Amino acid sequence: MRDDNCIFCKIANGEIPSATLYEDDDFRVILDLGPATKGHALILPKEHYPNLYELPDDLAGKAIVLAKNMIKKLTKALGCDGYNVVQNNGEAAGQTVFHFHMHLIPRYNGDDAGFGWKVGELTEEDKADILDKIEKSV
Ligand code: 5GP
Ligand code: ZN
Repeated sequence: MRDDNCIFCKIANGEIPSATLYEDDDFRVILDLGPATKGHALILPKEHYPNLYELPDDLAGKAIVLAKNMIKKLTKALGCDGYNVVQNNGEAAGQTVFHFHMHLIPRYNGDDAGFGWKVGELTEEDKADILDKIEKSV
C-alpha cells in the first residue's frame, strides 16, 4: 500500500534519497532533517499507514523490536546517555507527516532538547470519569 503524495512513502522506498541507518524488507531508518538532538532518527515502514491506529499488528510488533535494537546499537555508536522513543498520532499530538513513524531521539546529559509535559494531578473526579467512559465504550 502506497500513497503517491506521501513524502515518507518516497523516502522509505528509496525514491528520495535519505541518510539511511538501516533497511530491511519492511522498514527504513533515516536521520531526521530537523533533529531534536544529534542522531535523531525515524523508523519508517515501507508501506503507507497514516498512524498507529491503522498499522497492522505484525508491523507494530516489528517496529518496537526494531526500535529496541536500533537504540541499543546507536547508544554504543553515539555515546548518548538515554533515549526517547516518541510516536505522534494526529495533529493535536504534533503529527506533521501522516505516514506512521517512530522518533528515536538520543539524549545527552544536560542537553536542551527539553520536550515533555507539565505535570498535572489525577483528581478523583477525572479518575471516576475516565473509568466510567471506558466501561461504557467497550
Ligand atoms: P511528526 O511531527 O509527524 O511526528 O514528525 C515528522 C518528522 O519528520 C519531523 O521531526 C521532521 O523534522 C521530519 N521530516 C519531515 N520531512 C522530512 C524529510 O523530508 N526528510 C527527513 N529525513 N525528515 C523529515
Ligand atoms: Zn506514506
